[in-house]
Amino acid sequence: MMSRANHLFTLLFPTLACLALSAGMASAADVKPAAAPAQAAMPPAPPPPPPAAAAPAAEPAPKKAAPAKRAAKPKAVPMPHWSYHGSDGPDNWGKLHASYGLCDSGKQQSPIDIRGSIGVDLPELRFNYAPSRFSVANNGHTLEVTYPAGGSLTFATKTYQLVQFHFHRPAEEKIEGKSFEMVAHLVHRDAQGALAVVAVLMTVGAENPFIQALWNHIPLAAGQAMASAADVSIDLNRFMPKERQLYNYMGSLTTPPCSEGVQWFVFKEPVEVSPEQLRTFARLFPNNARPIQPTHDRLIKESRGRVR
Ligand SMILES: [Zn+2]
Repeated sequence: MMSRANHLFTLLFPTLACLALSAGMASAADVKPAAAPAQAAMPPAPPPPPPAAAAPAAEPAPKKAAPAKRAAKPKAVPMPHWSYHGSDGPDNWGKLHASYGLCDSGKQQSPIDIRGSIGVDLPELRFNYAPSRFSVANNGHTLEVTYPAGGSLTFATKTYQLVQFHFHRPAEEKIEGKSFEMVAHLVHRDAQGALAVVAVLMTVGAENPFIQALWNHIPLAAGQAMASAADVSIDLNRFMPKERQLYNYMGSLTTPPCSEGVQWFVFKEPVEVSPEQLRTFARLFPNNARPIQPTHDRLIKESRGRVR
């Protein structure tokens, strides 16, 4: 499993993380696992198991500019390279390393084709994001954005802190067989290490200023990151679709180690991005989507009625 230190370091210093990545480390294009505990923590009540989890909790400090050097140590934990094609592609992730086993054997894997949901009055998903400067990293699997101002989301009684967000093309999840051009995954973690990912689907349309601000900071090479100038900021609130109806189900990370116990929130309404913006991402990542995984009769909830 991915070391916490590495994870933290990935959060704080994407660039370095990426270098480590190109050195053969486990990467984290997607959500980095909050360690195994994320899973265990999910099911019923809050008090989560602490084993390897103790530390991840200390993690929600993506803003603190901790010493980069010190974080570089986790390189000692080499994880096999994985990709979206060929021998180290999705079909073989589970065989690449013992800690990737769930990619093969898991019963709550993501992404899924969302079907057969039950309509209920879901609690409102509340976002508390502030405008922030940001940094865009090319970690070799996706563009991953860190957002120093952080922010959180609250769902019913649980609050999760924003960790990072990143993109996939095409969108990984489908809705009743329908696919979308791209998706953004906003990764959040609660104090116990449990993960919640918000998926914002993206479709072709008008230019999206939020996305353009990010694309303006695409690093020139994989393994690098580009930070915005102090006076350049983005506001995640402006990226969210107007309609807040969503699907909610349990799933996993969509990249190795495919850890489960991840709470997913997928907005029904996509946001628009221009053809040029799509092409720009495709130039870097023509296909970085894991194929659809079996649902195994999972319960999927769907907002009923209008949710502002
Ligand atoms: Zn993702």
